[in-house]
Amino acid sequence: MDKLINIAYVASEATPFVKVGGLADVAGSLPKALNSLNDDNFDGIKLDMRVVLPLHNCGDTNNLIMERFLSFQLTEGFGDIEITAYKTLMNDTITYFLDGSFLSDSSNVYSENPVEDQKKFIQFSFAAVRFFQLIDWKVDIFHVNDWHTALCLAIIKMPVFSDFYSFTKSVLTIHNLPYLGGNSDQILKKFGMLRANDINMPTWAQDQFLPIGIVAADEIVTVSKTYAEEIQTPNYGCGLENYLLKNRNKIRGIINGLDSDYWNPVTDKHLYRRFSIETLHLRLENKEDLLCSIGLKIERKIPLVGMVTRINHQKGIDLALNVFESILAEDWQLVILGSGDSNLENDVINFQKKYPGKVRFLCKYDESMAHKIYSGTDLFLMPSRYEPCGLSQMIANRYGSIPIVTGVGGLKDTIIHEKNGYVAPEVNEISIKKVMERAFMVFDDLDRWRLHQKNGMRMDYSWTNSAKEYVVLYRQLMARK
Ligand code: ADP
Repeated sequence: MDKLINIAYVASEATPFVKVGGLADVAGSLPKALNSLNDDNFDGIKLDMRVVLPLHNCGDTNNLIMERFLSFQLTEGFGDIEITAYKTLMNDTITYFLDGSFLSDSSNVYSENPVEDQKKFIQFSFAAVRFFQLIDWKVDIFHVNDWHTALCLAIIKMPVFSDFYSFTKSVLTIHNLPYLGGNSDQILKKFGMLRANDINMPTWAQDQFLPIGIVAADEIVTVSKTYAEEIQTPNYGCGLENYLLKNRNKIRGIINGLDSDYWNPVTDKHLYRRFSIETLHLRLENKEDLLCSIGLKIERKIPLVGMVTRINHQKGIDLALNVFESILAEDWQLVILGSGDSNLENDVINFQKKYPGKVRFLCKYDESMAHKIYSGTDLFLMPSRYEPCGLSQMIANRYGSIPIVTGVGGLKDTIIHEKNGYVAPEVNEISIKKVMERAFMVFDDLDRWRLHQKNGMRMDYSWTNSAKEYVVLYRQLMARK
């Protein structure tokens, strides 16, 4: 007889409802991939993964049929608030959206104000935990993501919930360790919650949401194998490295996959010209269309480099600008799509002003333009200081744009130097410059370039393998007493 594992998957964002970064891609595609394994008769194990999300005001439910499912009171924290749960099918997965006054003040997924976000996500986490208790859905595994929902794993152990969740196992996926959630002693007290209770966790971290989740979790997943190792070192551990090293037995890396139906140059409706590995020559039309639409001169023989990124320190925008400035003698064109840190945005604006014939900066979030950049650029630059997984380099590969990356985290695990991209061994300008110059040289040799492109397009970035690794993890957890 089949064994059914019920998994509650809780996240702050998911495509196609709302997206800020890679977390949304993952939350929008992993549950679908896991549920679809059921078709393969996976050793008699069946998964029922259901997703829970906040009904953000900025989200798009136009293509979803939303059923008003349940209303309930949340009594913890700031006095009674009414929560309404909606049920829908999103990405072929049963998805519950939780709505209530905890969201009403915020128009974005995340605000600039950490305390506002703490209030929003602690209430959402309590509501998600209470929700499954109320509908009496036996949760075998509570799977949460990043600091926003990490508290769920401590909440299920609180006396009011612990009976219902007494057999529930827990998984925390860390997509980005440095975002710990901020100090929150006051707010924890208000909700009757305790600080992380582990002497190996530094005192300054014990009242932050992610460390609390890290201590409470039965298993921790990072989104690449290299990042799982990196976070146990002072360079990447954000001060938690000693705790993580001591608890390394509960940490594993599982690389993220891509939704290969959505990120598919053969069917992508955003592209000027769709293409496949057999019709790579058609790509040139996308390059010309892109250059034309951003107002740069159409230069077929000059390498066009793209970046689609949150603009912040992690992503190495400053390094990129310095490298380009140091190779002005070479011919190149650059398009950057992204927004974020206003100081860094200003640096990019000034860079464009300085080199208007070479550089375009599109300071915004623009899904359609992102697809055009992946499909029209020759090279895709990701000079990240750290990168837990990185999806953009995989998307670039699928669309025939050759990634130039730093050899960190998931970039190191997916890009092989001179095969499907270029890897700078060090995170510094000299190292990035060296591989960039090398890539520009090879670009002149069309046969070799095509080989790079084909190597990239043949990479298997689907969820198939990683979803199976998650199943192994869930089975191991279920086997535990
Ligand atoms: P992170 O999750 O750290 O932001 P990833 O590389 O894992 O980085 O994922 C980024 C995702 O967000 C990719 O799908 C990328 O295309 C998308 N993205 C980032 N910035 C923008 C933007 N300004 N406009 C459109 N898509 C963007």
